[in-house]
Amino acid sequence: MARIVKKFGGTSVADVEKIQSVARRIKKEVDAGHQVAVVVSAMAGVTNELVGYVDAISRMYDAREYDAVVASGEQVTAGLTALALQEMGVSARSWLGWQIQVKTDDVHGKARIHSIDGKEMIESMSKGEVAVVAGFQGISPGGRISTLGRGGSDTSAVALAAALDADRCDIHTDVDGVYTTDPRIVAKARKLDKITYEEMLEMASLGAKVLQTRSVELAMKHNVRLQVVSSFSDEPGTLVVNEDEIVEKELISGIAYSRDEAKITLTQVADKPGVAAGIFGPLADASINVDMIVQNVSDDGKRTDITFTVGKTDLERAVATVEARKKDLGYSKLVSDSEVVKVSVIGVGMRSHAGIAQTMFSALAEKGINIQVISTSEIKVSVLVREEYTELALRALHEAYGLDAE
Ligand code: ADP
Ligand code: ASP
Ligand code: MG
Repeated sequence: MARIVKKFGGTSVADVEKIQSVARRIKKEVDAGHQVAVVVSAMAGVTNELVGYVDAISRMYDAREYDAVVASGEQVTAGLTALALQEMGVSARSWLGWQIQVKTDDVHGKARIHSIDGKEMIESMSKGEVAVVAGFQGISPGGRISTLGRGGSDTSAVALAAALDADRCDIHTDVDGVYTTDPRIVAKARKLDKITYEEMLEMASLGAKVLQTRSVELAMKHNVRLQVVSSFSDEPGTLVVNEDEIVEKELISGIAYSRDEAKITLTQVADKPGVAAGIFGPLADASINVDMIVQNVSDDGKRTDITFTVGKTDLERAVATVEARKKDLGYSKLVSDSEVVKVSVIGVGMRSHAGIAQTMFSALAEKGINIQVISTSEIKVSVLVREEYTELALRALHEAYGLDAE
């Protein structure tokens, strides 16, 4: 007997028929004698719709109320999935964030999980009851409902797997594994049998939304056996593993993209100590993540331009935060652009091979794609380009690195 956590994403629970088919999958595991906890997302499109309502009423909303609204989608699917199981003669109950006590911090809208008390759930599961958990939601220190950021049900599942000391955490989704790049954009993308935690972490944080970044971080930290599998077929999926479990290491494991980027340029900023702190301190205080940053050396030692990127949804707040300090910062103009995409090439092989970035730059140049910002780390190279080039850039790079499937 094993204890398994299975998570089903939005498209996998998109309607009543799909929920019933998910229930049949769960029943198979129960019939095989396993203890099962199921984490469900909201039905496909529901969270977007809820976010739309909030935006329509309030642009600079109170994030606690945003959470009260957007967390509701998962409550519906948890209840419906429990009912579908009961209809099949499987004992099941739903669990909401506050009932399990998924305790988070108070960063509403993108909260992090601090702890989960799995005791009551383990008791219920050991009596043969399937635990159906509403993903994405928790409870903040103030006792308010919190949500874990878009795609957060993956993180609910992994955190739960760690808390329940589960043998496995299966992330069921609308693709049958992790591919070399988004298979919906590049038809020649190849499915990976295995990927390291580290590479998956980079892929996720650079935009491959098949797993939420935080879920991979947690899986790595708690050694959760994590796999991405289809909700609709029994094909083997992709296992996320430690580096020593991969025998044949590829130079490049994947290419990711993120449309969730917006660029801000401040022109004619004073070139003196304290300026960067003056810009980025207030952004951090407003919980706005800054991603890429470029600052040039000034020609005359006096003034220079600074360009940085933030998430698209944070753009409005970021601009307001910087503009509120215009007098202190003394820049000349603030220019923002949200029609950009970040494309990244990822691979642990980069540590020991030169020329990876050059292949990227030439492949993009050949297609006439201009690079606006570049950033690198030990195992990735990212570039910012115009959004309209997303598909062209992905296809060109996939081919240039020899990743295309035959
Ligand atoms: P769910 O609703 O099940 O959580 P998501 O839409 O969040 O599903 O994530 C699955 C999607 O991730 C796929 O449909 C695919 O378009 C996208 N994706 C992006 N990059 C990759 C990749 N490298 N491998 C697989 N899927 C990817
Ligand atoms: N329903 C939430 C979202 O759409 C959480 C998730 O699906 O993982 O972001
Ligand atoms: Mg998802």
